[in-house]
Amino acid sequence: MTNLILLGPPGAGKGTQAKRLEQRYRIVQLSTGDMLRAHVRDGSEIGKQAKAMMDRGELVHDNVIVAMISDRIEQPDVERGFILDGFPRTVPQAQALDGLLKWKRRELDRVVLLTVKDDELVERISGRYSCANCGASYHDANMKPKVPGVCDFCGAKDFRRRADDNAETVRERLKNYYGQTAPLLPYYREKGILREIDGMADADTVTAQIIKVIDGK
Ligand code: AMP
Repeated sequence: MTNLILLGPPGAGKGTQAKRLEQRYRIVQLSTGDMLRAHVRDGSEIGKQAKAMMDRGELVHDNVIVAMISDRIEQPDVERGFILDGFPRTVPQAQALDGLLKWKRRELDRVVLLTVKDDELVERISGRYSCANCGASYHDANMKPKVPGVCDFCGAKDFRRRADDNAETVRERLKNYYGQTAPLLPYYREKGILREIDGMADADTVTAQIIKVIDGK
């Protein structure tokens, strides 16, 4: 069983790496951002509440997020392990996760922090888009599909951009990252499970580094 958290600012590559790790370790990516976007698309009550906050780049309330994750972690496909992407984002969320895992008799193996400079983050976020079918990540400048307009992984032809991937919202998301999420670093450092990786390297190098961290545990 492998239970991981990918930590890092928006645009650090958490989603891209989570997808690769899913395939390699046959564990599941649990992205609270993806779950919320699905709620918004479905027009659910959670989606209606979350949309305005997401559009402004603010964090959605801890209780909504924790309830969502605690339901998801009960599902049978999470049995072999998980990669948390975008959760936890606040110290109360991290504490709630600890409680949840203790109750489920599961342990966190590693928390992997991807570090990337702010101007690079803004550049990455403003050009990114993903496959509407499988969620694979692409970028206008440096990560285009091999065949233009066709997803490398599933062959779908529909792509989408996130409503919150614009310069103004990105600044707010970064502010929230440094204010509310960065305090998780000492939290996990103290537990001895935090590992830091240079997220400025190309995606393959970053994947290789993460694999080393997981396998060398
Ligand atoms: P992400 O896809 O992880 O960048 O998340 C997109 C947006 O969803 C964030 O800017 C928040 O508004 C919201 N969100 C996602 N995960 C969380 C979380 N763990 N706590 C609070 N808000 C979240």
